[in-house]
Amino acid sequence: MSTLLTGACPECETDVTTPPMVQGETLSCPECLLTLRVDDISDGTLSLEMVEVTLRDWGQ
Ligand SMILES: [Zn+2]
Repeated sequence: MSTLLTGACPECETDVTTPPMVQGETLSCPECLLTLRVDDISDGTLSLEMVEVTLRDWGQ
C-alpha cells in the first residue's frame, strides 16, 4: 500500500502525487504552478480545487 495521495490539477489535468495531506491544505501544481486546495480526500484520491491568489498590489 502506498501512502501517497494522487489527484489531478483541475486546470491542466496534470497528475499530482503528494505525501499524505488533510482537507483544506494547499499545494502548488508542478506543471502550471497554480495554487490548489484539497477539497476532499476519498480512498487515496485527492479532489483539488483552484485557489484564487490575488496580488492586488502587483503592478498598480
Ligand atoms: Zn496544473
